[in-house]
Amino acid sequence: EPKLSGDFETLMGWADGVRRLRVRANAETPLDADTARKFGAEGIGLCRTEHMFFDPARIGAVRQMIMSETEGGRRDALAKLLPFQRDDFVELFRIMAGLPVTIRLLDPPLHEFLPHKEEELAEVAASLGADLATMKRRAADLSEANPMLGHRGCRLAMTYPEIAEMQVRAIFEAAIIVAKEAGLAPVPEIMVPLVATKRELEISHEQIDRVAKEVFAEAGTTIEYFVGTMIELPRAALVADKIAESADFFSFGTNDLTQTTFGLSRDDAGKFLPFYVERGILPKDPFVSIDLEGVGALVQIATEKGRSTKPGLKLGICGEHGGDPASIQFCESMGLDYVSCSPYRVPVARLAAAQAALAHASAPAMADRTA
Ligand code: PEP
Ligand code: MG
Repeated sequence: EPKLSGDFETLMGWADGVRRLRVRANAETPLDADTARKFGAEGIGLCRTEHMFFDPARIGAVRQMIMSETEGGRRDALAKLLPFQRDDFVELFRIMAGLPVTIRLLDPPLHEFLPHKEEELAEVAASLGADLATMKRRAADLSEANPMLGHRGCRLAMTYPEIAEMQVRAIFEAAIIVAKEAGLAPVPEIMVPLVATKRELEISHEQIDRVAKEVFAEAGTTIEYFVGTMIELPRAALVADKIAESADFFSFGTNDLTQTTFGLSRDDAGKFLPFYVERGILPKDPFVSIDLEGVGALVQIATEKGRSTKPGLKLGICGEHGGDPASIQFCESMGLDYVSCSPYRVPVARLAAAQAALAHASAPAMADRTA
C-alpha cells in the first residue's frame, strides 16, 4: 500500500498544474488499478486482457477454446469464460469510477495458451471429447516458429472472431452494470492490438459495433464507447492515415514497435544489447528510451498521418517508454494526449510530463517546427 507524504503531494500538485500530458497507468488487476489511482493515474491506458486468462480457474476453458476445431466447441468454452471476464471489467470500472479505461482485446502469445504437458493435453482432450492424438496434432498445427511474429493480436480475432465477441460483450455488460449502480458511467475505450492494415481494424470495429448494438438492445440502455488501435507495427505507422478512418484513438505500443523496427526480439534484448550500449554502437537501450531516429520517426509519421485524417485524433503511448522521462519529453514534443505506464511509475511520469511541458514552452520541438 503506497503511503504518500504531504511534501510528495505538494510537489505533485505543482507538477499537475504545469503539465499538459495526461498520465494513465497500465493495469489489469484490481490491485494495480487501485495503486494507479493512489499514485494519481487519470485512467487506464492499457488493460492487457491476456493476463486475465492465466487464472487457474479459467485456463482449462482457455485451452479448450484454443484447441477446439469447431466454432461450437469454442463457443462452449467462451460461454464459461464470459462471466469471469465480465467480473474483471466490473471491478476495473468500479475502481476507475468514470475515468477512461482502455481495454485491449486479447493479444496472447498463443504458444503460452497451448497445452504442452501430457496431463494438460489429456485434460483438454477430455473436455472436448477428443482423443489424445488429435489434440497433439492440433497443438502441433497451432505452434509457430516465431510466435511473436505470428498468430497473435487482431490476427486471432480475424481467425476466431467469437473470442473478441465474448470480450466485447463482457466489456459492455460490465459497463452497463457499473453505470446502473454508480451513476458514473464508464466510458470504455476498446483497443485492437497488432493492427497492420486498415481492413483489420475495420473488421474489428464493425464487430464491436454489432456486439454493442446487441447488448444495448438486450439491456434497453446504451453506453458511450470508443474504438481504437495500437500502433505497434511499422506498417501501421506508415498507413496511419488510412487506419485513422476507422479509429477514435491510437496508442503507440513502443515495445513491439521497437522490436519490429529494429528486427530485434524484445524477449532477448538482454543478450547482446548491453554490449552495443557499452560500446556506443547504440546511444541507449531502445527498449528503455524511445529511439528517436527510427521508432520516433515512425511515431511522428503516424501522428501526422493520423491527424491529417482526423485532426482531433486522441493519441497516447502505452509501451514501457510511457514511464521514461526522456521518452515523455518526446511524447510532449509530438503533441500526444497521454502517456500510460506501470502504476509505480505514475508519479515519475507526472513530474516528467511537467518538465517536458516547461521545456517545450521555452523551446517548441519537432511537432511545431514541422507543422
Ligand atoms: C507494446 O507492444 O508496446 C505494448 C504496450 O503491448 P505489449 O507490451 O503487451 O505487447
Ligand atoms: Mg504489443
